[in-house]
Amino acid sequence: MRPGGRTIENMRVHVRDSRRRPVGTIEIPPGEHPSRVLADTGVEVFLDWERARDDGGDLRRCICCGSEALYRHRRFPRMTGFVIVLAIALGLGGMLGLATGLPFSIAMVVVLLLDVGVLVLARDALVCYRCGSSYRRLRIAAYHERWSRAKARISADS
Ligand SMILES: [Zn+2]
Repeated sequence: MRPGGRTIENMRVHVRDSRRRPVGTIEIPPGEHPSRVLADTGVEVFLDWERARDDGGDLRRCICCGSEALYRHRRFPRMTGFVIVLAIALGLGGMLGLATGLPFSIAMVVVLLLDVGVLVLARDALVCYRCGSSYRRLRIAAYHERWSRAKARISADS
């Protein structure tokens, strides 16, 4: 195991083609660099690993289109929406006096815990400015920054 490497999960990539159309999802085991992978849609995806990793072994370039412009994106699981709806429903119920007392308090605590759990579990994705492919379940190097309009414009021109 390399220093600092804690992930044993497969990296998951939502692949888009050069015209930013979704191609499918692929999974890549840690430490492997396959040049061809079959996506879940049955489409064969060709990957370019040349200079794709930095000195620390983290992804530096998009292996789908080769662009070096990547940004960090926090993506919440779908459950957050459900939790928000539930919290609003419970809040309204409380205000209308439909649900008061201990059961209501317990429900609110459960909702809060669910929400906190979702926030903790949510992990950043790495997204390519140029093709829009996104990389999940990977360690993201610190130099990847959040989306910026200026950088998006530069990579659109290139
Ligand atoms: Zn790309």
